[in-house]
Amino acid sequence: TADPLLGVDTEQPVAIAQAQVRHGAPLSIVLYVEDNTANLKLVAQLFARRPDFRLLTATDGNLGIRLARANQPDVILMDINLPGIGGIEALKILREDAATAHIPVVALSANAMPRDIEKGLHAGFFRYLTKPIILNELMNTIESALEFHSAGIRGTGDRSPQVSPDERS
Ligand code: MN
Repeated sequence: TADPLLGVDTEQPVAIAQAQVRHGAPLSIVLYVEDNTANLKLVAQLFARRPDFRLLTATDGNLGIRLARANQPDVILMDINLPGIGGIEALKILREDAATAHIPVVALSANAMPRDIEKGLHAGFFRYLTKPIILNELMNTIESALEFHSAGIRGTGDRSPQVSPDERS
């Protein structure tokens, strides 16, 4: 017999809340460093439909670094050609700072030549995506970066086995 004073009301309709936010997942912060207004708008529209994400934006590299230090985003999307310091230099600064070194940074650039991509990956970007932005590809890359980030925080080998229903009809 349950103590009514300690009892939890299990009749609450929780389905609505679960549909809006991934069950058990904390809010993920994405920082997008980009000087192009159209790209900023496109990505803002993408995240407007995702209440499980919070999007921060910066229009130059220095502001991006300041926001990264202050807000500890889970993933950073970084343009390469930025006013002031460029994306590759900004990445180096983030990597050299213990406060931001662990955050995966995804390059998002119009520089689409193979040597640009190679240079970017060599610099240490988690992935290098080329413009125009493909929303599905961007979202999949962000999900991969989040998994990578949370695996790094938890340590290694902490993966729950996937349970699959084995029903035959
Ligand atoms: Mn740019």
